[in-house]
Amino acid sequence: DRHHFYRDTWAEIDLDKISRNIKSFKKHLPDHKIMAVVKANGYGHGAYQIALEALDSGAELLAVAILDEALALRRQGISAPILVMNRIRPEYVNLAAENEISLTVFQKEWLLEAETYLKESVRPINIHLKLDTGMGRVGIKEESELLEISSYMKQTAVFHIEGVFTHFATADEWESELFEEQRKRFINHIGLLHETGVKPTYIHSANSAAGIRKVKGPFNLVRLGISMYGLAPSLELKESLPFPLEEAFSLHSELIHVKKLLPGDTVSYGATYTAKEEEWVGTLPIGYADGWQRRLSPGASVLIRGERMPIIGRICMDQCMVKLPFKVDVGERATLIGTQNANKIQMDEVAHLAKTINYEIPCLISSRVPRVYV
Ligand code: PLP
Repeated sequence: DRHHFYRDTWAEIDLDKISRNIKSFKKHLPDHKIMAVVKANGYGHGAYQIALEALDSGAELLAVAILDEALALRRQGISAPILVMNRIRPEYVNLAAENEISLTVFQKEWLLEAETYLKESVRPINIHLKLDTGMGRVGIKEESELLEISSYMKQTAVFHIEGVFTHFATADEWESELFEEQRKRFINHIGLLHETGVKPTYIHSANSAAGIRKVKGPFNLVRLGISMYGLAPSLELKESLPFPLEEAFSLHSELIHVKKLLPGDTVSYGATYTAKEEEWVGTLPIGYADGWQRRLSPGASVLIRGERMPIIGRICMDQCMVKLPFKVDVGERATLIGTQNANKIQMDEVAHLAKTINYEIPCLISSRVPRVYV
């Protein structure tokens, strides 16, 4: 469906692959509920479409980072449970409650302040307590804080503890002592909560990496992000995945100009590429404003007619150039991420060239690039 845009660059999201990735996970962790993580516009794949597909494929809950993302999904008609994983301002608590959005809490002061705002008509609001067991980001860290919060919770009917969770810093590394320490601290803290009579419905620690390695404990939910999109949480884990993941995101463009260079002709800003002989060059209408980062050249290549061809010269804001082994027609498809015939350019290859991790690449493909669902 090309009817909702007019440019020659687009991303394709294969929803069947998303579905199969979720089903593989469900088989791998049959006793866990799946919370599909669709923050950051579904890691750049489209939050709404991914949410629908995920819920249709066995996920039962959704997670986002910020309240605005949760509200957008509600406005689009999604009625499944949604957890906002970061702190929201206490004054917005009614907005969350009215939209039946679960909130993450890790400060007693937050509870006290939110209680002053929360209207009687929307009580109680569901919260998930976040524990910092070693990530050092947000969360309740000391046992004393946890006990204070739990005794406060027992004397108020304003909040309902629906869940308790933590987040691992090193689940994507096989040999990590911190991972085991975090796991133990979390289990210990859950024990404390239970002793005080607090028994949340959901106890969750696993992201994709911890889910892949089946972290052991009294957990019943996995927060599934990167591997739902078909990407491995790290190169280390990619080596030994217990089931295949299918990359759902691909990036495509079409040649808008093809010309012959003569020896000595240069290409793009700074004239960093000089033709040594007569050679063919093609122009693609994609650049760093689309999230096709400037640092990808030199190094990156694209697939045209199933063959790898290198990007030459600097990547511009809206365009970049490709060295062609022969004359190719204007309109020919170029695949920047994805497969053509037997050849493939994986997200991890692009991430490596951009000196980052696979997560960042689709997140940075800008909203100017239309997403097509296939
Ligand atoms: N849980 C929390 C708190 C997160 O911040 C994230 C994403 O970074 C996830 C789960 C999902 O992690 P992953 O994409 O590695 O599966």
